[in-house]
Amino acid sequence: ATSLPSHFISNIIAEDLKAGKNGGRVATRFPPEPNGYLHIGHAKSICLNFGLAAQFGGVCHLRFDDTNPSKEEDEYVEAIKADVRWLGFDWGENLYYASDYFEQLHDFAVKLIRKGKAYVCSLTPEQIREYRGTLTRPGTDSPFRGRTVDENLELFAAMRAGDFADGSHVLRAKIDMSSPNINLRDPIMYRILRAPHHRTGESWCIYPMYDFAHGQSDGIERITHSICTLEFQDHRPLYDWFLEELDLFHPQQIEFARLNLSYTVMSKRKLLELVTQKIVSGWDDPRMPTLVGLRRRGYTPAAIRTFCERIGVGKSDSCIDVGVLEDCVREDLNEHAPRVMGVLRPLRVVIDNYPEGEVEEFEAANHPADPAMGTRMVPFSRVLYIERDDFMEEPAKKFFRLAPGREVRLRYAYFIRCESVVRDASSGEIVELRCSYDPQTRGGNAQDGRKVKGTIHWVSAPHAVTAEVRLYDRLFLTANPGADKDGSDYRSHLNPASLEIVDTCLVEPGLSAALPEASFQFERLGYFSVDALDSRPGAPVFNRTVTLRDSWAR
Ligand code: ATP
Ligand code: MG
Ligand code: MG
Repeated sequence: ATSLPSHFISNIIAEDLKAGKNGGRVATRFPPEPNGYLHIGHAKSICLNFGLAAQFGGVCHLRFDDTNPSKEEDEYVEAIKADVRWLGFDWGENLYYASDYFEQLHDFAVKLIRKGKAYVCSLTPEQIREYRGTLTRPGTDSPFRGRTVDENLELFAAMRAGDFADGSHVLRAKIDMSSPNINLRDPIMYRILRAPHHRTGESWCIYPMYDFAHGQSDGIERITHSICTLEFQDHRPLYDWFLEELDLFHPQQIEFARLNLSYTVMSKRKLLELVTQKIVSGWDDPRMPTLVGLRRRGYTPAAIRTFCERIGVGKSDSCIDVGVLEDCVREDLNEHAPRVMGVLRPLRVVIDNYPEGEVEEFEAANHPADPAMGTRMVPFSRVLYIERDDFMEEPAKKFFRLAPGREVRLRYAYFIRCESVVRDASSGEIVELRCSYDPQTRGGNAQDGRKVKGTIHWVSAPHAVTAEVRLYDRLFLTANPGADKDGSDYRSHLNPASLEIVDTCLVEPGLSAALPEASFQFERLGYFSVDALDSRPGAPVFNRTVTLRDSWAR
């Protein structure tokens, strides 16, 4: 068994349990807004919330925070559910929608009006902003703050009934316009908005604001520990105020540092822009930090969970190097991905002394360290393809692969020697190597004990299957592309070479029928995953998940 993660939040929960708080019950929640696909930052929150529930024998709710109709869609709801499941978590019975609480939230608002703690304000949005003040300037009371309870009840009912135009009135909590915490300066609880909601349709034309919906949803569901990111620290006094005033179950809000990852953007607005402006092929473009993108790239749920554990849970914002994420998938695939041979940029090799028409098969291990993964037969014949990079006409120092007059080992097969090169008559480019093989080296070792320094991969030309390979690089050239103040400039940091398509790759025949999402190590090249959308039997398409080593660190 692996050790359970220990961090400040798990410590708080352990203490609470020891003290008998909440009757020994632990309930967390993951509350996505269905306005986009989940990204690796959400994975951190999912692993944390579901992980804590599992660790302490509690439950974790999946709650759609769907109180803002204009940007929310069912497509996202379904995608989010699929992503959470894919990541390996199960909410069981505990699926909730904040929109299911609209009636209850409305009644809570009426309760606050009755208590004299909420009022209908008829300032314009600009005036509300102006009256709110700033960090250095206290706010000013709205002239509508003194409306009577009856007046407020009547106006709020009329708001709900659709008697007013969008934006003409809001319901505000009556707290303190001079509070140093701007969130407490009579925050808006409800606004008028005529927009169809993905679940409630046209039933409502008033919608609760995030701060009025979120804590109350937590309270209704009797969440014990409401874990959110640091930006909500300043909202906590408001979270607590509503729950106290409404006399609801009072969860403890705990803030942690959100995940930032280098060489990518993580805000849903920017990710959506990348999609709508067709900078990427979709939410599931393998360069996206979304879970569907990472999945299509070949990331495994286990690798992402390991990553979330490895980065830990802290209280100060930082940026994690994307290399850490790449290491996690590399480690997982190193252990689990079968080895195969594929030639990315083929160079034709003819073995002149190998009998024409003859085919033999070599038994190749699917994993060098895991015999349980078995072996496969790889065909060999007189005409092969090797990697263009594995030949140099004038070998550089320390180049130990094939060169004129030099001998190398073909993985699992024979030693071959390059006898001559064949050039294209017009371009002069080398198009073929004429080689000889030594039959005494079958299996990879010479009878006379002579050594070769290089071992290269290959495929048999008549047996090889043509594959398309998509090589991905980082989507952005700079470590923090979203750093610009106005946030609009991130597109100028895009990496123009983040995708290279190689459609003349040749792979061993067994890969012809590789299943969607299957991962392989192409020996010496990296890890590749079968594209779930575009791959076809006989015409496989592979996405490079990650190189064998971190080529950026060298
Ligand atoms: P965005 O600001 O990009 O719209 P969000 O935080 O509003 O993202 P939600 O759908 O509301 O997106 O997020 C659901 C949950 O995931 C929240 O509890 C939030 O704290 C958590 N979360 C979102 N992004 C991150 C991140 N980068 N790191 C950790 N947790 C995150
Ligand atoms: Mg958001
Ligand atoms: Mg949010």
